[in-house]
Amino acid sequence: MCNSFNKKFLDEAAKHWSGSEDQSDGRANGFMKEAIQLALRGLDNNDGGPFGCVIVKDGKIIGRGNNRVTSEHDPTAHAEILAIREACAHLGSHQLEGCVIYTSCEPCPMCLGAIYWARPDQVFYAGTREDAAKSGFDDAFIYEQIGLPPEGRSIEFLQMDRKEAQLAFKRWDEKEDKTEY
Ligand SMILES: [Zn+2]
Repeated sequence: MCNSFNKKFLDEAAKHWSGSEDQSDGRANGFMKEAIQLALRGLDNNDGGPFGCVIVKDGKIIGRGNNRVTSEHDPTAHAEILAIREACAHLGSHQLEGCVIYTSCEPCPMCLGAIYWARPDQVFYAGTREDAAKSGFDDAFIYEQIGLPPEGRSIEFLQMDRKEAQLAFKRWDEKEDKTEY
């Protein structure tokens, strides 16, 4: 039943993929299909939310992930984060130079940050933050929170011990054998 649902879903998605809003090429569609398949498979396995991601370098998938937040008891186990970890481990690098990310939904703020830290060349996303919000996910809400000053956020943010913390920056600035990133 799940497979026939998946097939129907992908057939419908394929129709949309041929639409004018699609900014990918034919090759890219295959990778996005894989990302969406991962999302659907994760649902079948009760891994977590409906999100999947693949990372591609030189035409090959080097990282895969699907949301595992609830099964792993890990609020950071988003599809993109897991795919980035796998791809970076595969490359033996903390950077995704020359890589393209295909994710079944627009990345949440955490994953957006992780993507900026990983520095891939390009990101394709399928669903939007509004689609995720409609299904009860906080992506759009967190994007709103980021724009607020710390004192206006729904979680209290308070600053303390700035001088002491600056010692770590001072040590970093002076460290001669550091790996900058
Ligand atoms: Zn995320």
